[in-house]
Amino acid sequence: MSDILKSLIEIVGEKGVSNAPEELWFYSRDPGVLTPHLPDYVVAPKTTEEVQKIVQLACREKIPVVPMGNGMSLTGLVIPLKGGIVLDMKRMNKILEVNAMARYAVVEGGTSQGVLKAYLQKNHPTLRHSLPDAPPTTTIAANVALHGQGRLTNQYGFNSDMVTGLEVVLPTGDVCRIGSPSIGPYWFSKSPTLPDLSGLFLGWLGTTGIITKVGMKLFPNKKIREVELFVTDRVDLVPVILYKLTHLEMLEDVNVWFQPKPLMFLGNFHITLYFTGDTEEEIEFKRKMIWDTLQEFMDSKDGGFMSVQYMKEALLQMPGRNIADFADVPKGGGFEYSGPITIIEHFPQYAAKVVELARKYDVLYASSARLISGGHCMMFSISFAFNRNDPAMMIRVKHALDEATAFALEMGGIPWKPNYMEQKMVMEKMEPNALKLLQMIKKNLDPCGIMNPGNWEVNS
Ligand SMILES: Cc1cc2nc3c(=O)[nH]c(=O)nc-3n(C[C@H](O)[C@H](O)[C@H](O)COP(=O)(O)OP(=O)(O)OC[C@H]3O[C@@H](n4cnc5c(N)ncnc54)[C@H](O)[C@@H]3O)c2cc1C
Repeated sequence: MSDILKSLIEIVGEKGVSNAPEELWFYSRDPGVLTPHLPDYVVAPKTTEEVQKIVQLACREKIPVVPMGNGMSLTGLVIPLKGGIVLDMKRMNKILEVNAMARYAVVEGGTSQGVLKAYLQKNHPTLRHSLPDAPPTTTIAANVALHGQGRLTNQYGFNSDMVTGLEVVLPTGDVCRIGSPSIGPYWFSKSPTLPDLSGLFLGWLGTTGIITKVGMKLFPNKKIREVELFVTDRVDLVPVILYKLTHLEMLEDVNVWFQPKPLMFLGNFHITLYFTGDTEEEIEFKRKMIWDTLQEFMDSKDGGFMSVQYMKEALLQMPGRNIADFADVPKGGGFEYSGPITIIEHFPQYAAKVVELARKYDVLYASSARLISGGHCMMFSISFAFNRNDPAMMIRVKHALDEATAFALEMGGIPWKPNYMEQKMVMEKMEPNALKLLQMIKKNLDPCGIMNPGNWEVNS
């Protein structure tokens, strides 16, 4: 047994560490199209102190450490590109506190979305958090580490905007608290009049530290959730429709989706509008506002509301299952998406690009854009499904996704949860002094270069 393995067992116990080939195989890949790479060890800590000791050992021995939640980001972000330790955070899954009056929850760094959702439903049914449509096993800390978005993103912004405090193990092994918990016992804000240090960790994809605790804002869970579906075949009108809808300031989530299958959807742009209320009167008032706002498009016969009767249950599901079902359309269960963040005016150009790429690479597409912060921007997902048993199809999907990223950058968009190659493309385009700042931060926080190396690698 190697000295490293012995030391890891001393830290987390025998059940918390493995270098068995079948485990390493499993942790060498994610469900996307990037090439797998084996780690040397998989380690599953249970406490912040254990994370600290693992990082101290890794720092001493210059071993890469890749923090992992559920490994479902799809863009290879937890593939250990340079081997080393995959740090599986899932055993750190406790809900530490819910402050109902101040509307926040504090959870451990491996707590899943599903665990928090179930806990709130049982113990605080009037509260909810911004649940992404990712599988419920995905983790809250990972989601904010990649600037995820959820069901309340149109109202309140990126899920990372909803962070109220962090506990982080730095790449040197020091533990650090960020925001109000660095001053007192309350986790109510990540930057209450202080310089906002959370930016050193949010969006960094685990390359600057390991989040061991995260505080998240909670929001009112209204008694009734409703959905309306507006359909237009005029792609050029989508931005203005979205602009008018967001002017209402009453929609929790807005998604625009289009796909070629089943055929009834082809050529149409479907705008799904979610809104909530505590009474039927509130709901009907909001419904009327939505209908009135879109009346002009109905009068000009450019669009209309579609009955959601048969789809309502599926549309109201949280997390939604549509995109996961899409993975099975070509059989073989694979899908990956590029999701650039862009301004809503560019919707028509992105929509045309998805169709062009699908034709060029002969792959099946689906697309869904999610509005962020009342329309300040949107995440435009360019999704391609593939058969895992068809390597040629996977290569075509990879090329299509690479081209989608290049297009997004040309259009002034920003790739979301970028893979390591997309990160390089972003850094090549970045204004030199901004890049220097990025470099300075990374170098200072991670002097040994052990944190998720290959990602946001600006030291070289
Ligand atoms: C069907 C489907 C639907 C999806 N819908 C959405 C959606 O609606 N919204 C959305 O945002 N995403 C969505 N996703 C993408 C993704 O699944 C989510 O973003 C999810 O939150 C990722 O969580 P994870 O635990 O799987 O992250 P992982 O893939 O395990 O990790 C993601 C990144 O975070 C880092 N990381 C993990 N844990 C920590 C930690 N404790 N400290 C520091 N860094 C850490 C990792 O190193 C990696 O860089 C979807 C994915 C699928 C498959």
